[in-house]
Amino acid sequence: MNKLIAGNWKMNGSLAANEALLAALAQGLGQPGCDVAVCVPAPYLAQVQALCAATPSLAALTWGAQDVSAHASGAYTGEISAAMLKDFGCRYAIVGHSERRQYHGETDAQVADKAKAALAAGITPIVCVGETLAEREAGHTEEVVKRQLAAVIHTNGHCISEIVVAYEPVWAIGTGKTATPEQAQAVHAVLRAQIKAATEHFSRVKILYGGSMNAANAASLLVQPDIDGGLIGGAALKAADFLTIIAAARG
Ligand code: PEP
Repeated sequence: MNKLIAGNWKMNGSLAANEALLAALAQGLGQPGCDVAVCVPAPYLAQVQALCAATPSLAALTWGAQDVSAHASGAYTGEISAAMLKDFGCRYAIVGHSERRQYHGETDAQVADKAKAALAAGITPIVCVGETLAEREAGHTEEVVKRQLAAVIHTNGHCISEIVVAYEPVWAIGTGKTATPEQAQAVHAVLRAQIKAATEHFSRVKILYGGSMNAANAASLLVQPDIDGGLIGGAALKAADFLTIIAAARG
């Protein structure tokens, strides 16, 4: 299975900055030897779609959104449906990022519904799970990530084989504190076992690590047996760093 390196630009960028970042990525992407995506702010999906279409050296780059509505259409001011994302060529949508759980109060059940809406439109949800520092220190890491994933399994049944999971310890996101390869692998193994129990097609499901993955630590994380790629925040905004992580995923 190819590894997947997905950038999460979060609420960063501008027309000019995105163009410069994609031009710099185009210089080094070539045949990446792994799957590569950028999840960009929704207003820039059309720009990213157009630039990828116009730039042969970005042929391997796919793109996605950072959230999706659980609803198909209607009176949901400010929300963006999966079908709308599909109109702009999205391959992926992040759901349940800890910043959305934390700042927007998204529940496990809502995240599961968002994953379902994405799947129904042919978009692969990148389902984020992860514990806070307090939960880790209390010894609740496994319980928390299993509860978060169980909601998605419960709502999506056999379609679970079409999702991507991202283990993102909340204490490691944007903090410069990375889980050690051993800490990450231990949680990934738990998630793998949970997916294995839920679908016979478990081998299709990629489990990414996210949380301060960077050019320096990517190789040691990506070599772990149950780490199938990375969800990259800060380092995805620097072309050289993102390309180094992509090279590390090639093995
Ligand atoms: C993220 O936001 O998904 C993330 C992993 O961020 P960072 O790499 O900056 O920790």
